[in-house]
Amino acid sequence: MSALDIPLSLRLPRATARKLDAVGMRTVGDLLSLPPRRYDHWGALTRMSGLREGEDVTLLAEVVSQRLIPNRSRAGVRLEVTLTDGADQMAATFFAHSEYRLAPHRRLLIPGSTFLFAGRVGSFRGNLQLTHPQFEGAEDESEDDIRRRQERPIPIYPGGSGLTSWVIARAVAMVLDQLDDADVPDPVPEEVRTRRDVLAHAEALRLLHAPSSDLDHRRARQSLAFEEAFVLEAGLLAARAGVSGEQAPACPVSDNAVLEALLGHLPFTLTEAQRSALAEIQEDLSLTRPMQRLLQGDVGSGKTVVALAAMCQVVGAGHQAALLAPTGILAQQHAESLRRLLEPVRQAGREVPLRVLTGASGARARREVDEVVRGTDPAIVVGTHALLQDTVRFADLGLVVVDEQHRFGVAQRDRLRRPSGADGDSRRVAHQLVMTATPIPRTVAMTVFGDLDETRMTGLPPGRTPVRTYLVDAANAAWMDRVWARAREEVASGGRVYVVCPRIDEDDAVADADAEAPGGSRPPLASVAAVAQSLRASTPLAGLGIQELHGKMPQARKTQVMEDFTSGRAPVVVATTVVEIGVDIPEASLMVILDAQQFGLSQLHQLRGRVGRSERESVCLAVHRHEAGAATMERLRAFEGTTDGFELANEDLRLRREGDVLGADQSGHTSGLRFLSVQRDEALIRVAREEAADVVARDPRLAGHPDLAASVRARSGSDLVWMERS
Ligand code: ADP
Ligand code: MG
Repeated sequence: MSALDIPLSLRLPRATARKLDAVGMRTVGDLLSLPPRRYDHWGALTRMSGLREGEDVTLLAEVVSQRLIPNRSRAGVRLEVTLTDGADQMAATFFAHSEYRLAPHRRLLIPGSTFLFAGRVGSFRGNLQLTHPQFEGAEDESEDDIRRRQERPIPIYPGGSGLTSWVIARAVAMVLDQLDDADVPDPVPEEVRTRRDVLAHAEALRLLHAPSSDLDHRRARQSLAFEEAFVLEAGLLAARAGVSGEQAPACPVSDNAVLEALLGHLPFTLTEAQRSALAEIQEDLSLTRPMQRLLQGDVGSGKTVVALAAMCQVVGAGHQAALLAPTGILAQQHAESLRRLLEPVRQAGREVPLRVLTGASGARARREVDEVVRGTDPAIVVGTHALLQDTVRFADLGLVVVDEQHRFGVAQRDRLRRPSGADGDSRRVAHQLVMTATPIPRTVAMTVFGDLDETRMTGLPPGRTPVRTYLVDAANAAWMDRVWARAREEVASGGRVYVVCPRIDEDDAVADADAEAPGGSRPPLASVAAVAQSLRASTPLAGLGIQELHGKMPQARKTQVMEDFTSGRAPVVVATTVVEIGVDIPEASLMVILDAQQFGLSQLHQLRGRVGRSERESVCLAVHRHEAGAATMERLRAFEGTTDGFELANEDLRLRREGDVLGADQSGHTSGLRFLSVQRDEALIRVAREEAADVVARDPRLAGHPDLAASVRARSGSDLVWMERS
């Protein structure tokens, strides 16, 4: 058994082990892989007069008195020590089950002696105090001792659930004391460690928790980050090696009449970015190695036609292709543009059956789609989540395109890619192309980890003018008047106006993003119903065709609203974020987002992408609450500041807390990246991947690397789940 698998109950007092158990720490390894949140220094001394509750502080103080007090209501005692820094006084309190436990404290903390105390400032009955501070003698020390101590960082652990940093620090010290370094496994082979200057695992743990200098814990972190990346990459690569038998149909470009007909009759010239993206995809599709590619292209950059060409390549090679869209509106719209683009292909005598399946499709349409996909004839099927139902079984699916990938879960996408398994060859999978303008952090992570190939399309098709963005404070009545006047002008000059609200109606419960902001009885968040009503009644827009659009309406009604919007019969649509994604209406020129503080950066960016889709000048007005908090305003200013989707995705990463980056996987586990930062450690991850690839290439089953294999297995419960399926 490895030293890290030893239960904490064998190493720690029962009560401590129980407390740690309650937060999921059962073994020595669990405890030692908890990184300190930060490190304090003895050197940074504070005055008592300046203390604030909740601060972690280090004080130089003299003991004034000590008092042992039995607890009244429960068993145990507490030692109350009064401290002074010469000017002020405060208490330090130590609790224990019996006074014997406190004997060492009583012996040391005698009146008149001076110590350094480190801990968190709490308060008791209105007075500030330290509970269980760490303390060290500060008298009779040599210069050297003092210098060494000043250099030595004090680890501060994330507390919570009745666990203080102090309790954890004590537990860690006890566990380290009993740790036999020789029994600590090392997932990174020694040869790699030497080459990459990585510490042995045991040493890294010691320097992490008991550093002598800041340099120590930095080195420890660097080593542990490398190790983490190495284990993850080895897991990914080993999994890939294991499924390397998986094959997708090879779809050649040459002699592909469907593809030729399409490319020969496009209504526009492909941009340089589109051409090179397509070239990469064409090469992937011509191999049996399953393509796993992310196509990133900003809103409006023209991803659809690239996807269509990919589908035509597959269909022309005799297989089926599916395009998965997140909403019914978008699926319909895709189907229409595909039909238009495929028209010349049909005229060239290459009819490609095209079917649509959405939640609104009737039984007959479903049966028809089912018939098509069960047959082995080539076809393109466009659909929503409805395509993911078990009843839809493709007989010969060669390519899945997932549009607006950030709207789908991992498992959902996987269902199509890996069709049945039961009534077919389970090694046969479809190529996969996922598209997005606003990659979510997890996707960014997957590309950094190298598990998803990435194609970027930069720039917009010619003739587009970038959307101008302005923030509008809702409290400024003159500006709000101007917003609606501007809307009227847009319509008068042939434009279309979207007004987006965070809610459908007043009953629609939506978490208020800035609920903690001051303001007492704030007006309710804008809703589609209320806003449409008031726009019809009293603004400069009164008298114009104003329609409502939201996800709870029947599909037929939604389609009608979009038709009226396109034709100009109802040039103003008040909507929820159903218009967020993909919808392409060239006349749309003004996007008004109400209660914009409610939306995330990528949502805002997607909404803005609904306008600016022609040569017409377009504007996005993000109306926010006057009392929006600082973090919210930072997000909104980032949105105002750039129209570049990649830059915003990066900003999104930066504005989130590091721990949120990978988020929870489908089963609710957090990803558990402890030492790695996907953003900061890109270079390190690449090196780790190279080294791991080397090991896996020589030993795909990791038979000769038991420590590594064990670490990979230990992690595969959570992180690997999402990464190995992209
Ligand atoms: P997105 O990448 O946001 O999905 P779309 O594929 O919807 O963008 O394309 C946006 C619009 O640009 C569509 O109307 C499409 O027909 C048009 N388009 C795409 N490529 C070109 C091009 N090379 N030249 C001109 N217009 C193009
Ligand atoms: Mg799109």
